Amino acid sequence: MTLSVAAILAESALRRPEHPAVVFDSRKVTYRELWDGARRYAAALRERGIGPGDKVALLLPSTPHFPLAYFGVLALGAVAVPVHALLRADEIAYVLKDSGAAALICAAPLLAEGGKAADAVGTPVLTVMEERDTRAPRLDALAARSTPIERQVPRDPGDIAVILYTSGTTGRPKGALLTHLNVVMNVDTTMLSPFDFTADDILLGCLPLFHTFGQICGMNTCFRAGATLVLMPRFDGPRALDLMVRENCTLFMGVPTMYVALLDAARADPRRPALDRAFSGGSALPVALLDAFRETFGCPVLEGYGLTETSPVVAYNQKAWPLKPGTVGRPIWGVEVEIARADVEDRVELLSTGELGEIVIRGHNVMAGYLNRPEATAEAIVDGWFRSGDLGVKDDEGYLSVVDRKKDMVLRAGYNVYPREVEDVLARHPAIAQVAVIGLPHAVHGEEVCAVVMTHPGATPCPALGARIVAWSRERMAPYKYPRLVEFVDAFPLGPSGKVLKRELVSRLSGAERVAGG
Ligand code: ATP
Repeated sequence: MTLSVAAILAESALRRPEHPAVVFDSRKVTYRELWDGARRYAAALRERGIGPGDKVALLLPSTPHFPLAYFGVLALGAVAVPVHALLRADEIAYVLKDSGAAALICAAPLLAEGGKAADAVGTPVLTVMEERDTRAPRLDALAARSTPIERQVPRDPGDIAVILYTSGTTGRPKGALLTHLNVVMNVDTTMLSPFDFTADDILLGCLPLFHTFGQICGMNTCFRAGATLVLMPRFDGPRALDLMVRENCTLFMGVPTMYVALLDAARADPRRPALDRAFSGGSALPVALLDAFRETFGCPVLEGYGLTETSPVVAYNQKAWPLKPGTVGRPIWGVEVEIARADVEDRVELLSTGELGEIVIRGHNVMAGYLNRPEATAEAIVDGWFRSGDLGVKDDEGYLSVVDRKKDMVLRAGYNVYPREVEDVLARHPAIAQVAVIGLPHAVHGEEVCAVVMTHPGATPCPALGARIVAWSRERMAPYKYPRLVEFVDAFPLGPSGKVLKRELVSRLSGAERVAGG
């Protein structure tokens, strides 16, 4: 049996050759052009000795070069290893070495870090994008002179298609091995539900393509449907709103910080895109934010849950069932989600409905393992279940709530405090635009609950406001969990996909002076 992720683009090029696959900088690239270009990239790579099973690293921003290189590599039967575009040279070198990449395809503007990394580990570099840099051969120029390979090289469903590195907040990044079956199944399943993609949809592609959410849920699902992806290499609220209006986007997909920025932009710009639906994932979406977005943009917001290691979608709110804000919906088709005892690690001991524990996942979406990490793989996949490291609970209708990451839980005076629950309440405070709740070291209680707050433009961050937030929280939450500390920030430290980096906040704020109350 054969199966290839490359078929996603190949088939849409057959069915809708003249339909725009990608819009970038007001320029349209049709499916025919994109697939033709990808096959030329494949031919140019083959001429340079790259073949099936070889790993090719991609250090590219979200421009049309990304899908060209990605599908070029996959069409050749090689393995795509997308690299976070913001990494520094030594971090890139780590990925190149760990993956054993046969080549690095690097955007010329990223060559300062990418070139240094490749030199350090002896990986050949090919560049793309117009910039006068003669340090490495230009793949796009070579491709322009190559004859496209005729069709994609057949692969087995269990062959590795993509290696995606986790962010490495807990030690060195690990390469999650995703098979062709993992990716194709996740794309096919989610295209039908929850995303309900139609060929005439237009999606704002503001999530980075090197990250699983933007790459598999955004780009691949969009291409599978033969729809259009409007690329935006760097997200910012006002520009995203403008782009969605100008390009008639029907779909938005983002992480919660993007929802906050779009709502801010909508205060200054009265125009609204004709959005049909919006999808959130990657971190918890406070219900107040979901409501505000729905009211402002007039479309339903569906929240879901996924991880790099699960290709990525696990569960989502889906049109077929009543929407339950605050939950991440039900498992997608063919995927089982259960709750297991979090304190038992060597086996999976399932708990009952309503009980809180670690979310475990089984199904077609679970990765083949971590590259070169048999021990980490054995810790993550136990008795056939993938242990997510997230705490959650399922209700009697099968809806899943993600309570928090195991490692983000705050232990205050012997009580477990789940930041997401506290954030959900705080998000309703009129002065708060966005909040992240963390635990800070405390001499008496072990940890103290701290709310890190970004205010709405109208509110002035000051100690008096901090004290008011503490008092407001005390009225609404149990004594052990309301935040006694409030810290104001102008902006949050964000990870590559736009998620708030809580651990960076913890190290930044440990020991700082804060507003304290209660
Ligand atoms: P790390 O590498 O440190 O594990 P990451 O954020 O880079 O972090 P991803 O695979 O991008 O890893 O994200 C997966 C994680 O995102 C999940 O384990 C979960 O904690 C979080 N997450 C995803 N969706 C949601 C959601 N809807 N609500 C709460 N958390 C979510």
